[in-house]
Amino acid sequence: MHDRERHTAARLERVLAQRIRPALYPLRRPLAVTAWHVPGEPVTVDHAFAADYEPFDPGTPWGPPWSTMWLHLTGAVPADWAGRHVDVLVDLGFTDAWPGFQAEGLAFDALGVPVKGISPRNHHVPVAAVAAGTEPIELFVEAAANPMPMPGFRAWPPSPLGDRATAGTEPLYRFEGADLAVRDEAVWHLIHDLDVLSQLGDQLPPGQRRAEIWYAIGRALDALDLHAVNATAQAAREVLAPVLARPAHASAHLISAVGHAHIDTAWLWPLRETVRKATRTFATVTQLATEYPELVFAASQAQQYAWIRERRPQLWQRIAKAVADGTFVPVGGMWVESDTNLPGGEALARQLIHGKRFFLEAFGVETREVWLPDSFGYSPALPQLARLAGNDWFLTQKLSWNAVNRIPHSTFWWEGIDGTRVFTHMPPVDTYNAELTAAELNRAQTQFADAGPATMSLVPFGYGDGGGGPNRDMLERARRLRDLDGSPAVTIRSPAEFFAAAQAEYADAPVWVGELYLELHRATYTTQAKTKAGNRRSEHLLREAELWAATAALHRGAPYPYERLERVWQQVLTLQFHDILPGSSIAWVNREAREAYEHIQAELEELIAEAATALRGSAPSASNAVLNAAPHARDEVVVGAFADGQALPDGRHAAWASAPALGIGALGAYSGPPVTVASADGRTTVDNGLLRVVIDGDGLITSAVDARSGRDAIAAGQRGNLLQLHPDHPNNWDAWDIDPHYRNTVTDLTAAQSVTVVADGPLLAAVEVVRVFGASTITQTYRLTAGSARFDVETVVDWRESEKVLKAAFPLGVHTDQATAEIQFGHLRRPIHTNTSWDDARFEIWAHRWLHVGEPSYGVAVLNDATYGHDVTRGPGATTVRLTLVRAPHSPDPQADQDVHRFAYALMPGAGVADATVEGYRLNLPLRVTGAESAYPSLVTSSHPGVIVEAVKLADDRSGDVIVRLYEARGDRAETRLTAGFPMRAATIVDLLERHVAEVAVGDREAAVALRPFQILTLRLSA
Ligand SMILES: [Zn+2]
Repeated sequence: MHDRERHTAARLERVLAQRIRPALYPLRRPLAVTAWHVPGEPVTVDHAFAADYEPFDPGTPWGPPWSTMWLHLTGAVPADWAGRHVDVLVDLGFTDAWPGFQAEGLAFDALGVPVKGISPRNHHVPVAAVAAGTEPIELFVEAAANPMPMPGFRAWPPSPLGDRATAGTEPLYRFEGADLAVRDEAVWHLIHDLDVLSQLGDQLPPGQRRAEIWYAIGRALDALDLHAVNATAQAAREVLAPVLARPAHASAHLISAVGHAHIDTAWLWPLRETVRKATRTFATVTQLATEYPELVFAASQAQQYAWIRERRPQLWQRIAKAVADGTFVPVGGMWVESDTNLPGGEALARQLIHGKRFFLEAFGVETREVWLPDSFGYSPALPQLARLAGNDWFLTQKLSWNAVNRIPHSTFWWEGIDGTRVFTHMPPVDTYNAELTAAELNRAQTQFADAGPATMSLVPFGYGDGGGGPNRDMLERARRLRDLDGSPAVTIRSPAEFFAAAQAEYADAPVWVGELYLELHRATYTTQAKTKAGNRRSEHLLREAELWAATAALHRGAPYPYERLERVWQQVLTLQFHDILPGSSIAWVNREAREAYEHIQAELEELIAEAATALRGSAPSASNAVLNAAPHARDEVVVGAFADGQALPDGRHAAWASAPALGIGALGAYSGPPVTVASADGRTTVDNGLLRVVIDGDGLITSAVDARSGRDAIAAGQRGNLLQLHPDHPNNWDAWDIDPHYRNTVTDLTAAQSVTVVADGPLLAAVEVVRVFGASTITQTYRLTAGSARFDVETVVDWRESEKVLKAAFPLGVHTDQATAEIQFGHLRRPIHTNTSWDDARFEIWAHRWLHVGEPSYGVAVLNDATYGHDVTRGPGATTVRLTLVRAPHSPDPQADQDVHRFAYALMPGAGVADATVEGYRLNLPLRVTGAESAYPSLVTSSHPGVIVEAVKLADDRSGDVIVRLYEARGDRAETRLTAGFPMRAATIVDLLERHVAEVAVGDREAAVALRPFQILTLRLSA
């Protein structure tokens, strides 16, 4: 028999485009349209309804970037349309490309209740949703002229569209009209019959099934009279019916299809637009479920629900009902889909706590899966945190973007640094915006890596980012694909149903240990340095605010600021969204993030000051007491300005202080050796008896010898704190990527404009180095204080470079093949050689407060207070640690990082991992000199230095109990004795949501607990 398939496919393509699709709405009549153009930012419904509308004809351009237009639509359904399916069709000027990244609308009824979103492939409003029978139709549409600041998703060239201030005023769209239209049901179903069968026919290998599908399509087209499509569509369907009725093979791959809309909480639009995107999508989905009751729609990110609860009460009621019905399924149990590389340990815990608690309180739903399809790599602290928050499962997708290596499993157990495992699925369909096409389903089946022992995978379907989520077309496909010969079998169900079934059939799935490193987007550790610094600072201020507020509450009866802390936490958590903290958003988002961090920090400083004032009580005079929020006791020099504006006694720049862990100490007299400064032969030597550092005439470190080991941390013949400038031109994603070829070209910034001694002891030695290059200036102040083995580099960069990356290099005299980085609640060792493609791909890594390289009896730590990106390389006689300080990409924010940046990093020769851990807290939690009375004991102390208190706060249930979160930080086993600074009568182990797990024996304000390596333990201490 001759091959007619290609001929039939071409015939189908033309008939569909020219004859069948145009017959879908055979009867149409235009609605009357008037419009009001909002002069500024979006307004309320009441405001919009009261505005003056003017006639608005189809064909009229509208929509300067980021503007809003309200349409008022009126009309009536003709009497002879009664009983038929009638839609309102609104075309704002859509193109067929990328729903979610162009104009969008939200339809309201005449009472101001949101009815449904309007987006490119979902631009109808069923008349049945707004009027009965032939009642008059009245609708309002809030239309948003959202631009696409990254056309075609190419992160170049730079676009001015990412901020209203630079986007211009040219209209982006042309209004095409708003019509009432009758849908022909036979044509509607014929389109989907043909769609599903032709797609399947394309995917199948040559053989019986493929041949019979194409044969049937040909016969169906014969049955269609192209001059009378509406009259003959049903006859064509009848030809296809037997082919559509054939059931799936017994061995068909099982697809759990989950309706979804990945709505980035900010990205190529500001936060305010996300509120509207979520509103439109959730309105669309709840409406769609009335037509397709089998729909299950999974939505993550409590923040987006919270916005709707606050601003759209009628839609909120609809969502609550849909949740109760099982149509709308909260998933993920996180406040937002955060980045997981950069948030600190406590913040990552709070993402889970605030997210889960929101869903519990709002709906009584306990989510059991962490849902992070799109974040840029996954911290190995996450499995333990997920389980401690009551989650059993984890879903991601992003690792399929790896540039080099492929994760070998689709379904596996993911094991974190402490040994906790979480059952994990990475949908082999390789998208979280599926349309349920045969090509996608075939890809899911082909790429499913565990097909021997397992049978099922998950497919999230629906347009994200304002595209409206699932649409009618997808649900029609799903109905036909439930049980169809040649196709995977598609069942719509919730993620929890999928995970329970997948785990039951594959409980012995293979194990992936450690980091899920994304071999892409490595520049997100660095881009938007101010956002990174804002995050780090806010996290540490939150720690301080909670600790001192709890201390003031227990010791002085001061009111605990529950609401304010909750609000600030949620602001910080929202900013950790996976396009905000990583720096991959437009200028508007980055500007708002910088402003938000300033407000957050001001509010937290205020909360800390209020607690300090309460602790000062009625003490007659300021005693210059010192607050230490770090988890270890410290004796050190305090330098610089003090929190509540008090000067040091006698106006010194520096003073000696002693303070207990998490407690209140005092300024005092220093009796140890001073730090001295000596200059000779153009070199400056600073020495405090613990550390001797030599700075040359270029302002570079030629030697750093610690007294304990006598070894020089700087590799022989090399120089430390060498600033290096590389051209930074990634192949694709400017804000996201640093590509390996950046290393091929480098400029060493060795020339110093000045090297000046600015403090010469006895407590503080400081040398200032100024470097000028291009239009940029870097001012660095080296600092060594008496009694400290840490050498600080305070840095101010006036950064005016374009497409360059700045690194600070420390060539260290250490022989090793691995580097240890602090992560959340512990640390992670990574190979630094390039033996395998996996090692080679990890050429840029993230770390939190420190990175350590060492030999068994000697090591060096490089610490920081705002930097996450690093690289570590090996050379003869040296291991070079570099901090990635600042970049200058052009897209999607053309002015990224053009700013004055302030941060500090530090070198600690002779440090072990345990020293690095202690010092990382100190650098990020400087002592505060305050007038507090010093008589109050720390609320809690841990006797074992490796068991670290990460958070002290009052319980969220407002019982007044103290919550203490601890972890074992060395990767060792430890028993510790906790001592409470208040009359503790009971202690219990609780989960992250502070729910009871187990009792702990308590005696005389003490409790003993044992921890396994990197274990996190949360305790509730009751007075
Ligand atoms: Zn995303």
